[in-house]
Amino acid sequence: MSYSDKIRNLYQGQLGDIRNAGIYKEERFIHSSQAADIEVEFPSGADIMNAINMCSNNYLGLSSHPEVIKAAHDGLERRGYGMSSVRFICGTQDIHRELENRVTEFLGTEDTILFPSCMDANAGVFEALLTSEDIMISDRLVHASIIDGMRLCSAQHDTFKHSNMEHLEEKLLLHADKRIKVVITDGVFSMDGDIARLDEMVKLCEKYDAMILVDDSHSTGFIGRTGRGTHELCDVVGKIDIITTTFGKALGGASGGCVSGRKEIVDMCRQKARPYLFSNTIAPVIVSGVLKVFEILSSSTERRDKLEKNTAYWRKGLKNAGFVLKEGESPIVPVMLFNAKLSQDFSKDLYNEGIYAIGFFFPVVPNGQARIRTQISAGHEIHHLDKALSAFIKVGDKYGILGLNKEQIVAKYGL
Ligand SMILES: *Cc1c(COP(=O)(O)O)cnc(C)c1O
Repeated sequence: MSYSDKIRNLYQGQLGDIRNAGIYKEERFIHSSQAADIEVEFPSGADIMNAINMCSNNYLGLSSHPEVIKAAHDGLERRGYGMSSVRFICGTQDIHRELENRVTEFLGTEDTILFPSCMDANAGVFEALLTSEDIMISDRLVHASIIDGMRLCSAQHDTFKHSNMEHLEEKLLLHADKRIKVVITDGVFSMDGDIARLDEMVKLCEKYDAMILVDDSHSTGFIGRTGRGTHELCDVVGKIDIITTTFGKALGGASGGCVSGRKEIVDMCRQKARPYLFSNTIAPVIVSGVLKVFEILSSSTERRDKLEKNTAYWRKGLKNAGFVLKEGESPIVPVMLFNAKLSQDFSKDLYNEGIYAIGFFFPVVPNGQARIRTQISAGHEIHHLDKALSAFIKVGDKYGILGLNKEQIVAKYGL
């Protein structure tokens, strides 16, 4: 037996530490498909409850859309279940290339390459393009998958303070002598819902001869006038060298991701990106579903428009009720509670009111910045939002925080 008591005790001790720190993650079992109304079993073994989902990335309400499901069924019938191959051996179907072309057209780029996930896209893109002569300059709050991708790359690395353009310019000057400079940011930052200042970043990149990479996972499909993403919102379509994004959020929410951008960059990824070369191709059923998603999005802006209206309604309701929010325009609406335990108690009470929204605290967000992160969907109807709002007000009232500002909440509950 090689799994000795010593090793078992070691892990049990570490898991105990995680529990004692109050950061052990329990999963909640959903017994329905993903939608605004879900059936949840929590804790494991408890009665199944009906709840309104306020914390999914199903921004456009397409995860269980009948047309997407039908397209997936058709794809399953016509192209089979699995390909049992990576792309370059025998894992590329006509529909894989069709989807790449669709994404290219939608994002206004030159070419696109699919990956099993956006995590994989970020894991592969840096190492495929850069060497130790080059520098990656990233915003300090980029997503974990970008951090991991940069770790896998031999290029040098530096950071700039979150969305701080003066600091970015300092770093671009500091690294003026490097062969290739890449500025790296999320489009929408997932914890605060704030949007990168891409127009200013593009100007700096032009001035200092740097490339720019944007991970638009929390915006593709709905940010910008026609939902192209943050580059559309910031009026820099065609000027972002590399966009990475996911199909696992707004775009049907199954799985898959891509790198889209300059055609040589995409081709370099096809030749060299390890998660592309050594991990299985996206299943035909998912490719077929995502193709339908792009067809829906290209034919009408109805869903992103509804999402925008829902978000404005939700923000206004919470604000009028006296909650402290993180300001912003994205459908990520964080309700600030500051104290970690309060965020957990608040989330539990919401759940008992039939509202499913998770409390986030350190280390997922900075210490003293605990919150309930709500995420709005085009799948929500006004009655969902009204019911959720009543529950937030009831629970907010219970804890006596309505109308209090940050200092007052902190004085009452501590950090
Ligand atoms: C969700 C997310 C990812 C990961 O996407 P997957 O396709 O699920 O791997 C990558 N980057 C950002 C910014 C994300 O929010």
